[in-house]
Amino acid sequence: MATRDLSGPAPAYEPDVLVVGGGPAGVAAAIGAARTGARVQLVEQHGFLGGTAIASSVLTYCGFFDRSHSQVVAGVGQLFLDELARAERYRTHVTQESGNKVVLLDAETTKRALDALVCDHGVPLALHTTLTAAEVRDGLIREVEVSHLGHRERIRAAGFVDATGDGVLLAAVGAARVVRPPQERQASTLVMRFGGVHGDASLSADAMREAVITYRSRQNVDLPRDHGAMVRLPITGEVMVLAADHHADVLTVEGHTRAEIDSRRAAAHYLSALREGMPGWECSFLVATGPALGVRETRHMAGKYQLTGEDVATGRRQPDHTVARGGWPMEDHSQPGVTSHRGIRSDSWYDIPYGTIESSHHENLWAAGRLVDADAMAYSSVRVMGTAFATGHAAGVAAALYAGGNSALCTDVQHELRAQGALL
Ligand SMILES: Cc1cc2nc3c(=O)[nH]c(=O)nc-3n(C[C@H](O)[C@H](O)[C@H](O)COP(=O)(O)OP(=O)(O)OC[C@H]3O[C@@H](n4cnc5c(N)ncnc54)[C@H](O)[C@@H]3O)c2cc1C
Repeated sequence: MATRDLSGPAPAYEPDVLVVGGGPAGVAAAIGAARTGARVQLVEQHGFLGGTAIASSVLTYCGFFDRSHSQVVAGVGQLFLDELARAERYRTHVTQESGNKVVLLDAETTKRALDALVCDHGVPLALHTTLTAAEVRDGLIREVEVSHLGHRERIRAAGFVDATGDGVLLAAVGAARVVRPPQERQASTLVMRFGGVHGDASLSADAMREAVITYRSRQNVDLPRDHGAMVRLPITGEVMVLAADHHADVLTVEGHTRAEIDSRRAAAHYLSALREGMPGWECSFLVATGPALGVRETRHMAGKYQLTGEDVATGRRQPDHTVARGGWPMEDHSQPGVTSHRGIRSDSWYDIPYGTIESSHHENLWAAGRLVDADAMAYSSVRVMGTAFATGHAAGVAAALYAGGNSALCTDVQHELRAQGALL
């Protein structure tokens, strides 16, 4: 996708801030911007909000708490947790792998909670609407083109937030980007949801490993991992399993398509392996895969500051520069078949500087969630969804302050974020 002059009828709507992408980062950006009084438009290509959590069944929000279980993300993120509590669906769980506290999600409750948040804040929402092009003049992004069921429209705005996870707006405007070689990126994974798993069935990594290794040698099939995270979901009692990894370059159509098909084939083998080899799994069945492959990493914005693994490991505090906190340990999926963890000093949190979400290229562009500027190790921590709420919140506030003709210096953004309940 390249920058181009857009033609056609005048833009239908001119918000102050346009947010592209309705995952946790985009929802938080849109609401954060709206709470400053800005007029906001939120555009999402799917028919629901929630991003990867819903489109790929990633049903545990990490990053709201650090490893000592202190809360590190609030603000718009807290509004979401409050919605879950109101629906009597707020559940937390401590993971086997890292000992961190996560928030367990039910997909249907999550979709409705996010709808409610966006609607209650009066944010115009365009679902099934995909960003297809953008126009830049004199170094500023002026308009974008979106497509809804083949119908194209233009939207003009003053401030823009890319929350697409894949940097679709960054690519459209030719903004500086960081794209690591495919073999250094985090794996993609097709999440599997199993039903019919007995309430007392083992969910241990060791039991899964034994079942998969036995199946692999008997069937002579190559499965990407011999074990992976297993979490019992609230309400449905389904077990979510993350094992069907793929390392294809999903920035190519061919790689992305191959990864989807190979991973579905692997999921069928995992079902057989677990049914045959794990007590309590004999009557299990696949409720769903994905629906789409979960993509952990593609592009990042080249910002004004790159968060480093050292910043994360040392729990570095940068009070003059921070706009969010990260509390999730580094969880690296770049090596085939393994997940490695590296913690944060004192089981605490680190500051995420403003420069990680500010474009180094366009003064009216911010990016959040999966797009923050981070080296490979830091990215393995900062990418998670609780943290995406926090970086999205900051990006939305910054874009709104800028669009309102105010200074969007870090101190201004910090001031507004604190007023909106963010933890800084
Ligand atoms: C397999 C897997 C397991 C994971 N496990 C966890 C976990 O347990 N806990 C956790 O917290 N995180 C986990 N993550 C990470 C987490 O899911 C992401 O990093 C997080 O969703 C990032 O949020 P985001 O808002 O930046 O992006 P996303 O959630 O990906 O949202 C981006 C949104 O932008 C939309 N979009 C994209 N392009 C366009 C376009 N052109 N026009 C309009 N809309 C567009 C998408 O449809 C999507 O809704 C996992 C990721 C994967 C892949």
